[in-house]
Amino acid sequence: MNEKIAVYPGSFDPITYGHLDIIERGLDVFDKIIIAVARNSGKKGLFSTEERIRHIREALGDNPRVKVDTFEGLLVDYVVSKGAKVILRGLRAVSDFEYEFQIAQMNHNLKSEVETVFMMTSVPYGYLSSSIVKEVASLKGPVESLVPPVVRKALAEKFS
Ligand code: ADP
Repeated sequence: MNEKIAVYPGSFDPITYGHLDIIERGLDVFDKIIIAVARNSGKKGLFSTEERIRHIREALGDNPRVKVDTFEGLLVDYVVSKGAKVILRGLRAVSDFEYEFQIAQMNHNLKSEVETVFMMTSVPYGYLSSSIVKEVASLKGPVESLVPPVVRKALAEKFS
């Protein structure tokens, strides 16, 4: 059987209910999803890569169909090395479109056998991003409807 594997790449700094919604819905379409946290040395995040991975693992619980990993370098090379053919991305407001379109086209140029598949955000998460969560949390605003409990606790510690 040919397993349908999708790679869901991103910063996940931190993971939000918007990401988790894409993963849950992605599992209706793909057999396996690899969540690939970008190790991007140039982009300093709030949480370390190891912290992000721990948050994702704890938020997902045990699911043999989901793996959490990190990647460096060209995403398309990583995708091929995992035996996958699909990059899964989420789309929110129109503002995501231009950037995502550009990246998807570049990735297609680099490796035409890798397809990018987009899933539209679910309505409640249309304006939810990791950055806005960090901003609200830094101002001591409530974030429990936006992120899983493990992230809420981690944010509270960071900004205490
Ligand atoms: P990146 O830095 O690569 O954009 P993010 O962690 O911000 O990483 O996002 C990873 C992916 O998840 C992107 O495709 C993004 O559009 C998608 N995403 C983030 N938040 C949401 C949301 N609320 N609804 C749907 N997709 C989302």
